[in-house]
Amino acid sequence: MVKKEMVEVRILKIILITYILLCLAIAGLNYGYASHASEKVANFINWFWHFYENWVKTIFIIICSYLTIKIVKTQGRLAMRKRNLIGFIITALVVHIIGPILLQNKELYFFTMPLPWTSTPLQLLYSNSSFYQSHYPIWGTLGITTALIFYICFSILVIVGTFLFGRRWQCSTLCLFNGFASEIFEPAIPLIGKSKKITPRKKRLFLVLRWIFLIVALFFTLWWVLFLLGVTVPGDFKVMSKVESFKYLTTELLMAMFFWVTFIGRGYCNYCPVGTIVAIISKIAGQKINTTNTKCIQCSKCNKACPMSINIKEFAFTGQMVKDINCVGCGHCVDICPTKTLSYSTNFLEKLHTINKKYNKNYKNNESNLFLEVMQDTLVEQKLCNITDEVIDEYAVEMLDEKVEDPTVDCINVTTDKSTDELPDKTVEEPIVDCIDITTDKSTDELPDKTVEEPTVDCIAITKNKSTDELPDKTMEEPIVDCIDITTDKSTDELQDKTM
Ligand code: SF4
Ligand code: SF4
Ligand code: SF4
Repeated sequence: MVKKEMVEVRILKIILITYILLCLAIAGLNYGYASHASEKVANFINWFWHFYENWVKTIFIIICSYLTIKIVKTQGRLAMRKRNLIGFIITALVVHIIGPILLQNKELYFFTMPLPWTSTPLQLLYSNSSFYQSHYPIWGTLGITTALIFYICFSILVIVGTFLFGRRWQCSTLCLFNGFASEIFEPAIPLIGKSKKITPRKKRLFLVLRWIFLIVALFFTLWWVLFLLGVTVPGDFKVMSKVESFKYLTTELLMAMFFWVTFIGRGYCNYCPVGTIVAIISKIAGQKINTTNTKCIQCSKCNKACPMSINIKEFAFTGQMVKDINCVGCGHCVDICPTKTLSYSTNFLEKLHTINKKYNKNYKNNESNLFLEVMQDTLVEQKLCNITDEVIDEYAVEMLDEKVEDPTVDCINVTTDKSTDELPDKTVEEPIVDCIDITTDKSTDELPDKTVEEPTVDCIAITKNKSTDELPDKTMEEPIVDCIDITTDKSTDELQDKTM
């Protein structure tokens, strides 16, 4: 297994090196050599640039997403990561393949980062700008209008989506600058040396850089807006364009690559101007990582997994929510947490969750819920216990998360942090049980004795801190089970209707 992972990481590294080298070569040819080359050569460079940016990049995103999933699936759950990678694949297909074919514009990717990241889209509004002059002969008025409409639509998509889903929407789903690279190449970064964390000193440096870059980006945007409005502003548009291109190539593109090679994938995200804007919107959207201090076992896995070096463990220890401005919403911490202590949320997602829970109450159409309902009735009929609807709802959702298919169960063992000694008498005469263990923070090995005489059990254990794939095989032949444990974190006196 380890060997297989190593091969996949190596392939990822080779693809990342290829991606960086091609990027450097094409940027050099396009911004340097092409202007002096013959028309034929310049056209070839242009064609190759578009081919690389659209097709090669999309193919790399698909292949590397697959490899990354294969590598990280051994580390725990993948739900958030999978969504990130699927999001990037869809975005790449739309921006790099489908959009260019439908709109006959191979440079749509220029228009996927909202203001103030670059003033390039604004330059399209000025017919003397070099960007306009180099593109008008190819795109025409219709093409330029289409590009601007695409830009406005994409910017609205980013802003509205961030208000709903937090920074995760842009930085872990849509961003085709550094967001996609830091996710799809994550196991291969850094190319040199070991994975690093941002020290408090570097954090302070990034904090200063963050505001400097935002101010510079806002300055360029404001300059172009005023210039387009006819206001007399100091400086020349040609100089402004050149300075901005230089800034992009050196402090952004090259630096992002430098971080991939030597530091961390999200290095640039610490001072990206769009990242700062979406972080501010995320604050308004109520983005947070929820924690539960009763479940955290202080294993530090979340801290190790966080690409932005946020001290999540400290928040989890005190049960506080993580509301760090640097959180890109990647969900690596959520996936890796062995006790499912963490969850990503925004105000909108919380509302959705509430509606979803209500919707799930109507579980008659759902197999898992049907099974739970039957089980609930059986337990009540046999006077074994009374499980409240809330308990059923909660575990129904959990079962859906764990994708348990078609279980046939009569017995639930729900435990949290009580020993069986504290539980009331649970002896049951001749029950017929296919047994489920739903536990939270205990492995099935740690569960109290559930002695069964000649049990007729098809036993499924659903635990919060393990995926079903990881659970040991508990299939038994024709078992008969005696025991039902239903505990929460309340004393048995506090529990309602669980008399047996
Ligand atoms: S911070 Fe900037 S570069 Fe990083 S993912 Fe977000 S938008 Fe992209
Ligand atoms: S990974 Fe989960 S259990 Fe471990 S320290 Fe972080 S929050 Fe606590
Ligand atoms: S706290 Fe870190 S790991 Fe968790 S979602 Fe935010 S950036 Fe990702």
